Amino acid sequence: MSLNVFDHLERNDPAVFGAIVSEIERQQCGLEMIASENFPSMAVLETTGSVMTNKYAEGLPGRRYYAGCEFVDLVEDLARDRAKDLFGAEHANVQPHSGAQANMAAYFTLLEPGDSILGMDLNHGGHLTHGAQVNFSGTVFSASAYGVRSDNGLIDYDALQEQARSQKPRLIVAGASAYPRIIDFEAFGDIARDVSAYLLVDMAHIAGLVATGHHPSPVPYADVVTTTTHKTLRGPRGGLILCTSEHAAEIDKAVFPFMQGGPLMHVIAAKAVAFGEALDEDFSRYSRQVIANAAALGERLVERGFELVSGGTDNHLILVDLRNTHQDLSGKEAEEALEAAAITVNKNTVPQETRSPLVTSGLRIGTPALTTRGMGVKEMIAIADWIAEILDSPGEQQARTRVKALVRELCEDFPLYPELTQT
Ligand code: PLP
Repeated sequence: MSLNVFDHLERNDPAVFGAIVSEIERQQCGLEMIASENFPSMAVLETTGSVMTNKYAEGLPGRRYYAGCEFVDLVEDLARDRAKDLFGAEHANVQPHSGAQANMAAYFTLLEPGDSILGMDLNHGGHLTHGAQVNFSGTVFSASAYGVRSDNGLIDYDALQEQARSQKPRLIVAGASAYPRIIDFEAFGDIARDVSAYLLVDMAHIAGLVATGHHPSPVPYADVVTTTTHKTLRGPRGGLILCTSEHAAEIDKAVFPFMQGGPLMHVIAAKAVAFGEALDEDFSRYSRQVIANAAALGERLVERGFELVSGGTDNHLILVDLRNTHQDLSGKEAEEALEAAAITVNKNTVPQETRSPLVTSGLRIGTPALTTRGMGVKEMIAIADWIAEILDSPGEQQARTRVKALVRELCEDFPLYPELTQT
């Protein structure tokens, strides 16, 4: 394969060039079904690789610590205005380098070290930054966790309310990395107000669905909303914070100078591009298809005898619980077997998990990336059949080889980044 746009790199650093060529090929020829990944547009990729990376711009547009910020100011203002438009928010800070850093800035805006937080249990679908002991959020703050019901896999809002009343947290965190159902942010808002807690919503996984009205928005109910920009929102890798005017100045100070140094202006410019794309009607159609595809994938897997946490999905992902149907198969083994057939998913803990997080009893499978390639319900049904074939006989080399060939054929029908490899 030759690459169109990396001729300097090819000459200067064959080792890195070679790795990029291989990665493009891996992305083009396999089925990317990790729920937190996506394929941003060429415009976003170009912007991320632009000279905006050279510019130091500590501070905010119009109030920088460096000269020469005329054009980076312009893109940061575009990014902020488009983010506010997209989500109907009063204030946006587009500088967090990542979702974890967006959360850190939100915590340090609303809390003092030692304050209590109540977030979703990691094993039930929460994120490390929602209070896990191995993360700053679980060590700097006094964290406790809520979970999902064991009988239906859903957040139990009544139990959450009781827990909040007895624990009186200073902050409740809503949002998840592996929860396949609609989250009732209004209910979270009521519970937080009832116990005089702040509400932080981390909508990293579903931001693209929220932007297009395919998932209820947390913005009217939360003090602060954080997100990544690279999952369903399909932008460059990074973070974003939205908040009410009341918290705006404190959020900005928590990002810089409290937590970060110079902003990544190439990424902020690419966020502006991605937010512009997300405002377009095409993106709304895309989001609708992401959900339809996840539903079709889940339904077919259930027909093939698999169990899904909560029985199905309302969003971009499904969570397969292998415990009852494939007792001897761990999430780790399932992930490896599928990877050998060029289907990339990730092992995931399931509610009431008994295996370690490095082994697990579940698989998280998402549709944002394949939907970006143009795949629809028909393709999802075929892919579900291939996943079932592999997982029903995970050690069988012949099945892996057969499915891998079918995957390659399918990928050829849905080209990815053809501009990068045309000669
Ligand atoms: N919040 C949620 C809900 C996530 O799922 C993730 C990442 O997967 C993050 C935060 C962290 O984002 P990042 O990896 O950009 O730090």
